[in-house]
Amino acid sequence: MEIDLEAERLEILKRYRSLLRAAKRVETRSDKLLVRKALELAVDAHKDMRRKSGEPYIYHPIAVAHIVAEEIGLGTTSIVCALLHDVVEDTDISLENIKGRFGEKIAKIIDGLTKISNIYDPASSLQAENFRKMLLTMSDDVRVILIKLADRLHNMRTLESMPKHKQLKIASETLFIYSPLAHRLGLHAIKTELEDLGLKYTEPDIYESITQKLRDTQRERNRYINKFIEPVKQALEKEGLKFNILGRPKSIYSIWNKMKKKGVPFEEVFDLFAIRIVIDSASEYEKSDCWKVYSIVSDYYLPNPDRLRDWISTPKANGYESLHTTVMGPKGLWVEVQIRSLRMDEIAEKGYAAHWIYKGVSAENALEEWLNKLRDVLQNMDDNAIDFIDDFKLNLFAEEIFVFTPSGELKKLPINATALDFAFEIHTQIGYKCIGAKVNNKLVPLSHQLVSGDQVEILTSNKQDPKEEWLNYVITAKAKSFIKAKLKEEKKRIAAEGKETFREFIKPIGIKFNSANINELLAFYKTPTLVEFFYRIAINKIDLELIKKFVITKGNIDHSSVPTPDKTSFEQLVTNVRGKSDLLVIGDTLEKIDYSLALCCSAIPGDDVFGFITQNEGIHIHRTNCKKAIELMSNYAYRVVRAKWTSQELIAFLAGIELTGIDAVGIVNNITKIISNEHNINIRSISFESNDGIFEGKVMLYVHDTNSLTELIKKVKRVNGVLTANRIGS
Ligand code: MN
Repeated sequence: MEIDLEAERLEILKRYRSLLRAAKRVETRSDKLLVRKALELAVDAHKDMRRKSGEPYIYHPIAVAHIVAEEIGLGTTSIVCALLHDVVEDTDISLENIKGRFGEKIAKIIDGLTKISNIYDPASSLQAENFRKMLLTMSDDVRVILIKLADRLHNMRTLESMPKHKQLKIASETLFIYSPLAHRLGLHAIKTELEDLGLKYTEPDIYESITQKLRDTQRERNRYINKFIEPVKQALEKEGLKFNILGRPKSIYSIWNKMKKKGVPFEEVFDLFAIRIVIDSASEYEKSDCWKVYSIVSDYYLPNPDRLRDWISTPKANGYESLHTTVMGPKGLWVEVQIRSLRMDEIAEKGYAAHWIYKGVSAENALEEWLNKLRDVLQNMDDNAIDFIDDFKLNLFAEEIFVFTPSGELKKLPINATALDFAFEIHTQIGYKCIGAKVNNKLVPLSHQLVSGDQVEILTSNKQDPKEEWLNYVITAKAKSFIKAKLKEEKKRIAAEGKETFREFIKPIGIKFNSANINELLAFYKTPTLVEFFYRIAINKIDLELIKKFVITKGNIDHSSVPTPDKTSFEQLVTNVRGKSDLLVIGDTLEKIDYSLALCCSAIPGDDVFGFITQNEGIHIHRTNCKKAIELMSNYAYRVVRAKWTSQELIAFLAGIELTGIDAVGIVNNITKIISNEHNINIRSISFESNDGIFEGKVMLYVHDTNSLTELIKKVKRVNGVLTANRIGS
């Protein structure tokens, strides 16, 4: 094919002019010169490159800059960076060179863009790591992420010319990373387009069929929408409101999601569209006008009281403001109605920045403020990459709840957040010292799930410290990472004590404290790390006495002649189940088997147990004194297998204590105090009932093994007033 270079040159010019028209923030002469300079450099750098479609490569950076300017509403710096975004990555031009020509700030953003450009490899853990890197890079300057989104949007728009396998990779990465990001940043229009395009390439058949069905049902839908709108329209006009009212089909992606979630065909997704009423009101009236509209709508159609969402009084974290209601429309169909002002509508569709240019305000401050806000939204804790992405995604898709402090201050949390999440939301130290909470004046445990409208008071104690179980109680990324950090710190501190104990212990036996000896011991006690080794010594999980049996020559030890602590002949025959955890060994088979703990007796390490082969749930582990066990053993002896704990891993198990006693002031307090002073035990729930001076109580706890549980029961029995204390199920 012959290429008409002159025609291409004119086309580049045309696209550049169109970019300048869209770039409302590029106002001064020096700004314009800078953009021109960037264009010239990019044109020159990419001059020999073509896109897969055959077009000159430079069309791409110009298009990205266009999106950055018009659809996101960013200014000169971002437009320049968008024009240059692939230069360092794909051409000979160095970052130093860019820095020399355009300065530090622009070079830094381009550096960020270059670094995150080749990320994401599905099915490898690398993706999460890279994603995190991307976010951290971005938190230097949020513009990096916004330009990256524009880049991705243009690539998705032109994905047609890519080979099939690349389409799939790029599209799934878009759905996984970029559309949630756009959502998080409040760029609704871009998010929706990315999602629809993502679906188009990952599930082409579904995409096609929904598109087709939407087309087929359009007339019918329009008729319905018009019928719905008609009376409302007249009433709004009578009120003298300036408004625009329309029925908007939902995005293909969200319809597909609904079909999947509810397991229904297209025909049964009822809310294929939403009615949107956008009013043109002066800012001081917009809130009251929105409610006026709501009142008019509800005059004609009965609203569902559970589906009223007021994001005007309390906007979403990404800035979204709107009033949503679902009403009963004609033919008995629920219809979602979104009510908002013109300003709110623009922010909802395009994000803050685009709204500001629309207003003709070149408010650089407002833009900076928005960027800062975005940074806050995205800046998360330094954490394990996989956890981070899970937590992050969780938070992205979660809806929010609104709860209040005792002084009435509003806090936003993701749905299902607990009292403990709330504590961390207030302050890290409050989180660490949290022992419980009062929700609407009622005492609740840390794990209590909050709902919108709750007023929450956190109770703290100086003696409190984060526990491992806490990780099960919290859902916010913030709380999780703080707890993990503290647990790590704590483990290290305890390990340091263990190290001292160890030193003291080996001194009189004549063993040297050196790495050869320690490696020998790590192998002997099957501990994975040094910290773990010393930690287990500190909490008495390692029997140091065994070392005395070793052969010691010149201070060096050799343990090969001594059998390792739990290697009995029985266990040599069997295999460890559950891979690494080595928690339980089950006899008579050398295959890996999965087991679960039977619910009737909740065995914990240290209990005498046996395995029972069930019909379809694998092996159940029962305690040998379980009532059901006798029945099982007598009837199905051939299905019983031996099982034994190996006490390799310290995992907390749920167990319960039943108590009775004479009700006395402070007795519950005395009992809980004893429990919480125990090293290895955490309370999950407590319930006490008192009747005519006699109480009955049940305490559910997390324990590591039977020893600590028996020890605890002994102590509880000694509390004044306690008559009986027994493990539940014994
Ligand atoms: Mn690009």
